[in-house]
Amino acid sequence: QPSSLLVSACLLGQAVRYDGGHLLTQHPFIELLRKQNRLVSICPEVIGGLPTPRPPAELIASGKIVTIDGDDVSAQFQKGAELALKKAQETGCSFALLAAGSPSCGNERIYDGSFSGKLIAGAGATAQLLMDHGIRVFNQHQLEQLEVAMGS
Ligand code: SF4
Repeated sequence: QPSSLLVSACLLGQAVRYDGGHLLTQHPFIELLRKQNRLVSICPEVIGGLPTPRPPAELIASGKIVTIDGDDVSAQFQKGAELALKKAQETGCSFALLAAGSPSCGNERIYDGSFSGKLIAGAGATAQLLMDHGIRVFNQHQLEQLEVAMGS
């Protein structure tokens, strides 16, 4: 049974980003998986209960995730991460393609909590939970590595 791929909904063109936009990412490997019915779309922040559009949020030093207005949205981010993990496990996804830099989806870098556009090493809530459970997480700038890792 070949693995399916959990994908950030915004990378598939769904307008679910905090600003109401998307990050449509087109690539032959994504098209191939789509034809094979192996894409599983998810937006952790939306399934975690947040509206679109929504205020930007970042992980701060205390470990909480707060919006630019100072509201604590850690619970919604955590719920979204848990639902994403559940969906990945239920649909046989050993791999995920998640949007870089997001406080949910970022796999290598996230914003530093100062809302000044500064990236630091770290992972978003969903990316981290998936990785903790053995799912290999790539971002949209790592599609070649993803393709090699998944084979086809
Ligand atoms: Fe995209 Fe993830 Fe942000 Fe949803 S939470 S908009 S899927 S980066």
